[in-house]
Amino acid sequence: MAYQIPRGTADVLQEKSYAWQALEERLRQFCYLYNYDEIRTPIFEHTNVFKRENDSSDMVNKEMYTFTLENSNTSLTLRPEGTAGTVRSFVENKMYANPDQPVKMYYMGPMFRHERPQKGRMRIFNQFGIECLGNKSPYTDVETIVLAFSILKSLGLKDIKVCLNTLGDDESRNNYRTALKAYFEPYLDDLCSDCKRRYEQNPLRILDCKVDHDKEYMKNAPSMKDYLNEESKEYFNTVCNLLETLDIPYEVDDKLVRGLDYYSHTVFEIVSVNKEMGAQSTVLAGGRYDNLISYFGGPENMSGIGWALGMERLLIALEAEGITLDEKPGLDAYVMCLDKQAQTYAFEVLTELRANGYRSDMDYLQRGFKGQFKAVSRSKAKFALLIGSTEMDSNQVTIKNIEKQEQVTISRDDIIEYLDTQFE
Ligand code: ATP
Ligand code: MG
Repeated sequence: MAYQIPRGTADVLQEKSYAWQALEERLRQFCYLYNYDEIRTPIFEHTNVFKRENDSSDMVNKEMYTFTLENSNTSLTLRPEGTAGTVRSFVENKMYANPDQPVKMYYMGPMFRHERPQKGRMRIFNQFGIECLGNKSPYTDVETIVLAFSILKSLGLKDIKVCLNTLGDDESRNNYRTALKAYFEPYLDDLCSDCKRRYEQNPLRILDCKVDHDKEYMKNAPSMKDYLNEESKEYFNTVCNLLETLDIPYEVDDKLVRGLDYYSHTVFEIVSVNKEMGAQSTVLAGGRYDNLISYFGGPENMSGIGWALGMERLLIALEAEGITLDEKPGLDAYVMCLDKQAQTYAFEVLTELRANGYRSDMDYLQRGFKGQFKAVSRSKAKFALLIGSTEMDSNQVTIKNIEKQEQVTISRDDIIEYLDTQFE
């Protein structure tokens, strides 16, 4: 039987790895600029970190990779998202007592969800996310949105849209829940089985249903904005005004509720509107959470806000707009070894090149001149160093400038000095 990669997972092959690295580097640079530090939490956590009481989200109820090892009662879960682990760590490490709040962190790495694989939807995918934890200020809501928008813009994306909504505070959300329950009651029989569960646990999530989405009664459902108390309205207005002050374009979508249950106040998504994107067009999503820090045993009055972007989806969105990130760079030098006796001499030269910062490689196959020269071309090397027994005996090398098609024979002691002048 042939061995195959599991469904919904992917290898990042060598050619693509440069685009990944360029993306990772860009994300880190932006976090550095905005003063966010990296946090690395475990890939698996105790199941109760993710599975919280009365959580109605699909992710928690249907998509988690949960396991218990033999001879153990401990249930562990491969992380499906980054926020819960980060907040767990914030509380466990008492970061809430830091003199400087908010504590600003970012993370990057694989997430695991047992979903039906499709383009842009995988079982192992990578997220990059930020969390801004501790105090609550509309300025931090806006900071996180500006950071998200700036990253995507800097990568060259044009076909993107920021969608924004508020879920208000607990009181507003409770009133809205009651209104939604009353509204959906007559349609209960018609709702999909997931929505029947959502109706009991968190009727807001019915608005996020992908099955019943187009039904007439979905479109006419009550709107969150009519249930916001004054405080929540004011908070949202401040966020909107600040975004306008900074010229960040956005659209308010009052049916945007987001897939996770812990959100309150500001929620947002950045969507690619490019035609090539298909159904999985949400690249980045996030929001504020008022109750998560206290849920994990931290102080009552602390709030947080964060977002995560799907790195695979971002790469698809970039591709859809014809944007390429880094490709594999060529070598500085390729050492051609033309006589078996000269191999160690050539290997020493190669080692010296590398010690001096020249990205280089050599032929280990003892191919003929033609074969090695093809390898030079494939490696996109700027220089080929030709070494045979003649060069070895006279302690020299022949260096060929590939672009200029010129070559010189120089003393081995002068190689680095020569290349330094060529690369100036
Ligand atoms: P969706 O509605 O697409 O299922 P979600 O609400 O489950 O998204 P979040 O949990 O908010 O998504 O995750 C943030 C981002 O992570 C998404 O906007 C998306 O870019 C990415 N993402 C989520 N699930 C997957 C997946 N299975 N495969 C690839 N990327 C994903
Ligand atoms: Mg999902």
